[in-house]
Amino acid sequence: MTQETGGFAALELHPSIVAAVIATGYEEPSAIQQQSIPIILAGHDMIGQAQTGTGKTAAFALPILHRIDPSKREPQALILAPTRELALQVATAFETYAKQMPGVNVVAVYGGAPMGPQLKAIRNGAQIVVATPGRLCDHLRRDEKVLATVNHLVLDEADEMLKLGFMDDLEVIFDAMPESRQTVLFSATLPASIRAIAERHLKEPKHVKIQSKTQTVSAIDQAYLLVHADQKVPAVLRLLEVEEFDALIAFVRTKQATLDLASALEAKGYKAAALNGDIAQNQRERVIDSLKDGRLDIVVATDVAARGLDVPRITHVFNVDMPYDPESYVHRIGRTGRAGRDGRALLLVTPRERRMLQVIERVTGQKVAEVRLPTAQAVLDARIKKLTNSLAPLVADAEASHGELLDRLTADIGCSPRALAAALLSKATNGQSLDLATVEREQPLVPTASAQRERSGERHERRAPMPLAEGRVRCRTALGARDGIAAKNLLGAILNEGGLVRESIGRIQVRDSFSLVELPEDGLDRLLAKLKDTRVAGKQLKLRRYRED
Ligand code: AMP
Repeated sequence: MTQETGGFAALELHPSIVAAVIATGYEEPSAIQQQSIPIILAGHDMIGQAQTGTGKTAAFALPILHRIDPSKREPQALILAPTRELALQVATAFETYAKQMPGVNVVAVYGGAPMGPQLKAIRNGAQIVVATPGRLCDHLRRDEKVLATVNHLVLDEADEMLKLGFMDDLEVIFDAMPESRQTVLFSATLPASIRAIAERHLKEPKHVKIQSKTQTVSAIDQAYLLVHADQKVPAVLRLLEVEEFDALIAFVRTKQATLDLASALEAKGYKAAALNGDIAQNQRERVIDSLKDGRLDIVVATDVAARGLDVPRITHVFNVDMPYDPESYVHRIGRTGRAGRDGRALLLVTPRERRMLQVIERVTGQKVAEVRLPTAQAVLDARIKKLTNSLAPLVADAEASHGELLDRLTADIGCSPRALAAALLSKATNGQSLDLATVEREQPLVPTASAQRERSGERHERRAPMPLAEGRVRCRTALGARDGIAAKNLLGAILNEGGLVRESIGRIQVRDSFSLVELPEDGLDRLLAKLKDTRVAGKQLKLRRYRED
């Protein structure tokens, strides 16, 4: 066991849970885990203020797994989550952490799937039930005893559940469970409505909050890119093409991720290496020395392994995985901008992690600018610039040293110097494309819009919104093709009743169950007020600003 795994071992969790966590590649508990796990293990009720990205799922899943009895084949823990996506994610996390606990079964219960198999899984002895409140209430209506044996309840993203109108369902669920249960509530925010629930349903809860102090990071230019989790590696590769860096450190969360990203970078010709807690201390020192003296340009590290790393050459920090808390963000990006130099920090944010980004902005007191993936043109320009920079210093002496050889080669091959230079270039660029059409075809990334879609479209159809023109915003109506709507009906209604000219309306996208219309941002509120009572195809239009975040 490496010294870092002691972090989890010290938490007094069942060894099979610790083993599964270590096998997952976690090196040490995050702050919320450090604080919550002992409290939940001791059987207390708890209110945890934490958002996605802090490691909150493991903060409750690990101690709950410890506290259930796998030999009893009945529901023992219920986790409530606001959306089907989160319920599935939490259920998968439980399965991962329970990998070495034979006999533990997890069932996810959510709307949109048949009820029969879900109920059967519960009755067949799943100890952990992860559910959305609405669907769970449907089950309770069929079988009011379904939760009678549950003695651990977790409300995950409680504020989101209330926002989605699950208050009444929650009350029904509380009533269907034994009074003596342990209740844990996680929420990013604690509005009065959440505090009221805690007041009524939690018993002397302990509070856990990760305190954040304001920190300064002024010399560092910060930006973020919204990206889907499975697109992180191609996104990093693309960003690296245009970023002019000297040395770079990329932070990820797991050992496996250090290895995966480092090998993807090496495959693209970067001098990169992984740095994680499994690597022996002397080897780690070698990696850092290589980064210092330029034998390496990129190190992909976990937070633990990068402790104490101070390399003045570092111009860039890539936060490929979100840090657990703002302090560690500040700590990470402080690896650049050393000794008064400018540094640049890039953060990859998945749609669910946007809240964490806001917390970081609040704590650092600085806005982090959004960047988009570089276009094919930008990638091509950067490649040509690199080539120019590498060739320019050679030109002065090359003719003297290689002129005769050039004459001979052109004579032997029977080609022009231009043809020969072109052949040499194609060899020198090592197959890297240097024409726009080919660069466009490379790395067919799902646009970041797909990441936006994952969040905003949880209950809509899944299609990527198009980029918006400057000064336009997207508005949404619940009317779609299934209501007999066509784009021209929407256009006609908005033009007539809104008093707009055609040019001011952008794209109109009609989907089956909703439509999107691009409208001018300026005067939008007035326009929406004018359209308040507008009807299209006999139905109320009810156009609203569409928030893609
Ligand atoms: P969550 O905040 O629960 O959504 O977790 C965010 C991400 O962090 C998930 O991908 C987890 O697998 C990962 N994670 C949670 N705890 C740890 C840890 N101690 N070390 C490394 N990764 C972790």
